[in-house]
Amino acid sequence: MEDTCICWFRKDLRLDDNPALVEAAKHKKIIPLFIFDKCLEEYKDIGLASHWWLENSLISLNIGLDKKLNILEGNSLASITKIIKEQNIKYLYWNRCYEPDRIASDTIIKKSIKELDVVVKSFNSSLLWEPWRIKNKSGSFYKVFTPFYKKGCLVSDAPRKPLDKPEKLFFLKLNTENQNYHFKFQNKKYKWSEKFEKIWNTSETSARKNFNNFLNNGASDYNEGRNFPSKNSVSRISPYLHWGQISPFRVWQDAKNKMQGLHKETFLSELGWREFSYHLLYHYPDINKKNLKIQFDKLQWNVNEKLLLKWKKGKTGYPIIDAGMRELWQTGYMHNRLRMITASFLVKNLLIHWKEGEKWFWDCLLDADLASNSASWQWVAGTGSDAAPFFRIFNPITQGQKFDKDAIYIRKYLPEIAKLPNKFIFTPWLTDKTILKEAGINLGVSYPYPIIDYSLSRKRALDAFKKISN
Ligand SMILES: Cc1cc2nc3c(=O)[nH]c(=O)nc-3n(C[C@H](O)[C@H](O)[C@H](O)COP(=O)(O)OP(=O)(O)OC[C@H]3O[C@@H](n4cnc5c(N)ncnc54)[C@H](O)[C@@H]3O)c2cc1C
Repeated sequence: MEDTCICWFRKDLRLDDNPALVEAAKHKKIIPLFIFDKCLEEYKDIGLASHWWLENSLISLNIGLDKKLNILEGNSLASITKIIKEQNIKYLYWNRCYEPDRIASDTIIKKSIKELDVVVKSFNSSLLWEPWRIKNKSGSFYKVFTPFYKKGCLVSDAPRKPLDKPEKLFFLKLNTENQNYHFKFQNKKYKWSEKFEKIWNTSETSARKNFNNFLNNGASDYNEGRNFPSKNSVSRISPYLHWGQISPFRVWQDAKNKMQGLHKETFLSELGWREFSYHLLYHYPDINKKNLKIQFDKLQWNVNEKLLLKWKKGKTGYPIIDAGMRELWQTGYMHNRLRMITASFLVKNLLIHWKEGEKWFWDCLLDADLASNSASWQWVAGTGSDAAPFFRIFNPITQGQKFDKDAIYIRKYLPEIAKLPNKFIFTPWLTDKTILKEAGINLGVSYPYPIIDYSLSRKRALDAFKKISN
């Protein structure tokens, strides 16, 4: 086909700052393509929340592409080869992804398609510093965040300016009736994910709108406010960044231009954590499967389905933990402080393997991200390369008192204990029966007793850790 190219969308479901699309725009016509390839872990094991986000964001992207998006389900190489041969296409462009199996698959695709005499080009659109770029003085990779960010990223080339959406774009929809289209806008309705429709709009326009809203409001309090889950001081931009409705270059630049002082520094360094997670994933491709500190392979984890289920459902009897787990269940998002506290509770107080928590988050988070999720779980568990020490165990009572002192967040997600006065709401089990009764709480029935004694569980965790440290 004369001067037509394929622009293969993956984790870059947007028109703004999309280098592959900018290259594609140099051709007369563009075949926009998305492939739901179950040979890749991210689609084979896609979480339910992610499935909802992906499906909805493809609907939004399709509108932006004049309803010409071609969605296929199947093996990427086979699908692309078929289009290239049938349509006699000479150009293929995409933006790079960094999951280990994706890298392996892309390498094969590039080689095979080039052999068909097709120009194949890939670009960077989702990381400010690609994972192989930042090296330490000895030419190796960084294992610790601060030097990675300060001595690596910040002294390396600054992130490029974001690219505008090309002005003229002509898209082409193929006649693909005979192809395997199971994924095509099926609008699979999962009862559980229906509620996201009231909370999230997955479009590129919403990503920009929400981020601007953050810059005009919460951003001026980010450095302190980001610790308090009831405040609107974080951006909630993570699902958009993961799926690519907004580019990190756009986020970096806008934050740099509009935020001030320490708030700006801290926010940019949080974006640095995202980069660091990908840096680790690239250099430790098994980060979601194996402890980075191998001494933890010997730790005696507790296998207990009952306790795991109570954690998942937010029924541990510790209000701040339960509020966090309910936020996740109800919104597909959890505030970072809560991610840390709930993860610590699972891994240390319940002594359940971090992989169980990682799997649950993977299924429930709209921003479920192989790099950030695995690296963060290993960080909390103390098994990661630059991890919080295992003996640092978050106290769910004092964390609640400190970061949700007026219990606004707890009351939002735990209406069954909302009537308890602030003094008692962090520890319902230590509360006088008459006060419980006045608040309408029948402990053990309307709200659970703690599933574990905090002090004993802390001691058990430290003992288990001591055993592997000797
Ligand atoms: C156990 C655990 C699991 C996590 N799983 C994920 C995950 O699957 N996907 C994910 O995107 N983040 C994950 N995080 C990191 C962090 O909690 C979220 O990125 C953040 O809460 C997203 O909210 P926000 O956009 O409002 O963040 P903001 O505070 O507004 O930060 C802006 C952006 O910086 C990045 N960022 C901030 N903190 C981190 C961090 N600690 N690590 C990596 N990137 C960060 C994110 O892209 C975020 O959107 C996890 C953290 C923990 C402790």
